[in-house]
Amino acid sequence: MIVMKFGGSSVADAERIRRMGEIIRTQLPRKPVLVLSAIGDTTDHLLEAADLALRNRSVSIHLIESLHLKTMNDLGLGPAVQEAIHPLFVELRSLLTGISLIRELTGRTRDYLVSFGERLSVRITAAYFEAIGIKARPVDAWDAGFLSDANYTFADLLPETWERIPPALRPVIDEGILPVVTGFIAKDENGNITTLGRGGSDLSATVIAAAFGAEEVQVWKDVDGILTADPRLVRDARPVESVTYEEAAELAYFGAQVLHPRAMQPCMKTGTLVLVRNSFNADAPGTRIGTKSDKKTRPVQAITSRRDVTLVDIVSTRMVGQSGFLGKVFTCFAEHDLSVDMVATSEVSISLTLDAVHDLAGLKRDLGRIASVEIKTGKAIVTIIGDVHRSSQILQRAFGVCADLGIPVQMVSLGASKVNISFIVDDTQAGEVVKGLHKNYFEEPDEISGGGDQS
Ligand code: ASP
Ligand code: MG
Repeated sequence: MIVMKFGGSSVADAERIRRMGEIIRTQLPRKPVLVLSAIGDTTDHLLEAADLALRNRSVSIHLIESLHLKTMNDLGLGPAVQEAIHPLFVELRSLLTGISLIRELTGRTRDYLVSFGERLSVRITAAYFEAIGIKARPVDAWDAGFLSDANYTFADLLPETWERIPPALRPVIDEGILPVVTGFIAKDENGNITTLGRGGSDLSATVIAAAFGAEEVQVWKDVDGILTADPRLVRDARPVESVTYEEAAELAYFGAQVLHPRAMQPCMKTGTLVLVRNSFNADAPGTRIGTKSDKKTRPVQAITSRRDVTLVDIVSTRMVGQSGFLGKVFTCFAEHDLSVDMVATSEVSISLTLDAVHDLAGLKRDLGRIASVEIKTGKAIVTIIGDVHRSSQILQRAFGVCADLGIPVQMVSLGASKVNISFIVDDTQAGEVVKGLHKNYFEEPDEISGGGDQS
C-alpha cells in the first residue's frame, strides 16, 4: 500500500479537490491511505477567529463557514452533506463563544480549535469521492490510532501509535474503501485533542506509512519538489532529483518551507521512500527522499537561509586553560530553556546562535558571571546542504562569492551532520548571498560536479 498526503493549497478549493481526485484515481490499485490538511488557509483563519474572540469578544465564523460551504456547493455536494457537516460549525461557534467569555486561550483550547480545519476537510473530501464513485470514509486521527503526549500545540506521538495504526485502518482498506485521515491532530491519553505543530500533517502521513511498512509516501505540495533554493528569492531555483532523509530534515530545519522538520523521522527508521510531488504539475517527477541522494554527481544539493537569528559571542573572563567553561555556558542556556542552533568555539570563546524571539536579559546576566557576553541581533544563517567530504571545494566557492559581494562571513560551522555547511551573515545580506551561491553552484558553466577534494 501507499500513503498520499495533500497539503492545504492542494485542497484549497473545488477545482484543486477535483484535481486531487484525478490523481488519486490513478493510484487506487495501490491501496492508498489519504492524509489531508485543512482547506487552504483555514488553520490561520481559525487562529484569527480566536484572536478576535479574545480581543473584541466578537464571535465570527463567517469566513470559515463560507469557504467550506462554497467548496461543497462548487463540488456539487447537496444538502445531505451540508447537514452532516453542520454540527461542526455549531460546535466551533460555541467554542469561540466560550473563548470570548473566558478571554483565555490555553494550548489545549487552541488545539481543539484548530482541529476543526482537518475534521472539516476530510468529511467534505470523502463525501466528494463517494459522489464521483470512489468509495471513501473520513477518519479522525484518534480513530486511526494517533495517540500523543499532552504537549499542546507541539505534541509528540506516543510509541503505541505505531502498533495502533495498522489494525485501525486495515479493515477499511480491506473493504476496498479509501480512508481519508485528518493530518496534524491526535488525542492525548485523557482524550483531549492535540496538534503536532504547524505543518504537522506531513508527520501524520509519514507515521502511517512507516507503521504499515508502506511502499512509499507521496507528499503532494504546490511546488515541483524540494528546490535548490527558495523560488521567491532565486528565480532559477530548480527541483532536486533526490536527497537523503538527513538532508531533507536539515533543509526543513534551516528554513526550506517544503516539509515538516520532524516528518523524516518515521521513514528514516523504516527506510520508507518519500516522494515530494506537485499537485499543480503532476507530470513533474518531484523529489525522492530516501537513503541515497545524487551527491555522487552533485556535491551541493540545495541552499537555504534562516532569517532573524541572534548571535551570542561569549568570551571567558578567566582566559586560557579553564576547564568546564563549555559545560557552564551550556548549562546556562539549558536553565533559560534556550535551544542553540549553531556553535563555534575556540579555547576561550564560544559563538552561538538562537532564534530572535527570546528575551535574553536573564541569560546575559547569568553568563556575565563567567564571561563577557555580546548579543548581536539581525543575523541570518545561510545553509548549504551538500557533501561535507567536499567541503574545501564548497567553502572555497562560498567564501569567494561572499568576498566578491563584499560581505563578511561572521561564523562558520560544518561537519556534525555530514550534510550541512552553515555560516552567519547580516540578515539584510542573506538574500544576496543565497542568490550569489545559487548562481555559482548551479547556474554557471563550470558548476561543481563529479570528483572530490579528498577521500
Ligand atoms: N493545517 C495545519 C497547518 O496549517 C497542518 C498542515 O497543514 O500540515 O499548519
Ligand atoms: Mg495548512
